[in-house]
Amino acid sequence: MADYERCSPRECNSEKGVCAAVSACTHKVIKQIDGAFESPIIFQDMCMAYWDCIEACPLDAIYIKHVT
Ligand code: SF4
Repeated sequence: MADYERCSPRECNSEKGVCAAVSACTHKVIKQIDGAFESPIIFQDMCMAYWDCIEACPLDAIYIKHVT
């Protein structure tokens, strides 16, 4: 899940506005579909649960939501 209150592409990459979590995801499950400087969308159905995105995000805006 993405916490859009925390997420700020401009803050974590002021030059290009590229989301670090998008770059980290080898399965391309996270995308900035609206372009640079816009928050990413997570396509959770395709998530392989490697959690590279969580480690990559400097603002702790990505988190795991356990579904019971
Ligand atoms: S999810 Fe994290 S790395 Fe990606 S734009 Fe938001 S704050 Fe930056």
